[in-house]
Amino acid sequence: MSDDCTYCGSDVHAHDPVFVDEERGGERTTVGQFCNYACLARYIEESELETGACCQLDLS
Ligand SMILES: [Zn+2]
Repeated sequence: MSDDCTYCGSDVHAHDPVFVDEERGGERTTVGQFCNYACLARYIEESELETGACCQLDLS
């Protein structure tokens, strides 16, 4: 996997990276990586991941 921000394409390690995992088939899989929470928030808004959300995002 590259180190590019899922939202803006910058190198996430140049900032304060945030990773999003989902559990799929019993295994945690990284489904997104972001420069910071701002990029994560924008990505969620623009992809409407909140529609029908049911606590699947793990931001820890
Ligand atoms: Zn970014």
